[in-house]
Amino acid sequence: MRITLCIVFIISSLSSFAFQNGINTFVYHRFGDDRFPSTNIATAAFEAHLKHLKAEGYKLVTAGEAKALLAQEIDSKIAAITIDDGYKSFFKNGLPLLQKYGFSATLYINTETVGSADYMSWEEIKAAEKAGIEIGNHSHSHAYFLNESNPTEAFETDLEHSIDLFKKYLGHSPKTFAFPYGEWQSEFTAILKSHGIEMAFAQNSGVANKQSNILALPRFPMNEHYGDLKDFKSKLAMKPLVASNLKTNTNSSFPEISFQLEANSIQKSQLQCFIQGNECELAQSGDNVTAKGKKALSARRTLFTFTAPDTNGNWHWFSYLWIMPEVQ
Ligand SMILES: [Zn+2]
Repeated sequence: MRITLCIVFIISSLSSFAFQNGINTFVYHRFGDDRFPSTNIATAAFEAHLKHLKAEGYKLVTAGEAKALLAQEIDSKIAAITIDDGYKSFFKNGLPLLQKYGFSATLYINTETVGSADYMSWEEIKAAEKAGIEIGNHSHSHAYFLNESNPTEAFETDLEHSIDLFKKYLGHSPKTFAFPYGEWQSEFTAILKSHGIEMAFAQNSGVANKQSNILALPRFPMNEHYGDLKDFKSKLAMKPLVASNLKTNTNSSFPEISFQLEANSIQKSQLQCFIQGNECELAQSGDNVTAKGKKALSARRTLFTFTAPDTNGNWHWFSYLWIMPEVQ
């Protein structure tokens, strides 16, 4: 009897462990180009990330592989590297390091700038693809679509243009997308679907998991401000914090969001909230959480971040990007 109980306990612990895993995905832009610290990673720092992933036995997956895995319970160490914008510095400094460590990644290309100034040419994109890099769509114009008079129409026209160019130059159109600036609305995800795109990344930090919106998955940004090995290790160790029924209260004079926390083994009483440039006040009742800023927001994009430890001491992370398109 005691043995049976023990086995049941072990199995249920294992399944809850598996349930808490996700795919820790990172987004990079430039490599070894210190003119732009907020979008650049020093090559030594990037190599340190890859070395750590290798030493810790992580499997790196492309966005396409991540999509299939996210439909299942994840019980091994899986991470993904994504690169946005297709800068030449990726081809010159990032790709050789990925090849050195035998890792793949997904490169999101905005088609309008291909071949100009700092950007990779179609020949270089094809060479990267040949080297095992998955190519993703990052729109044509990399515009602030939410500012268009008809955002949905503008987004779709732009997407169709990029699809035509991918077909023309690569012979196929990517099935994965990354939203420019991480800005999106639900109509955009419907448009992606209707054009054969199966998964997409936004740009709010967090761990992609089975409960995530497959057309707006979170990623941790890596750059000169957030990108040293200590920071990378802590983001890699993060587990998903699962929030559902998220609602924003735009009637309140101060920013306010509420959601339900899927508690599992989360220590709810230790939930923490951070709002960029603002103090955050938390109110919790059971699994219901309300987070309120103490002053009005002024930035175009403000990240609300939530973290909490579980009973095993692992930290869990969730974030929401509040966008105010009226701020240019
Ligand atoms: Zn971008």
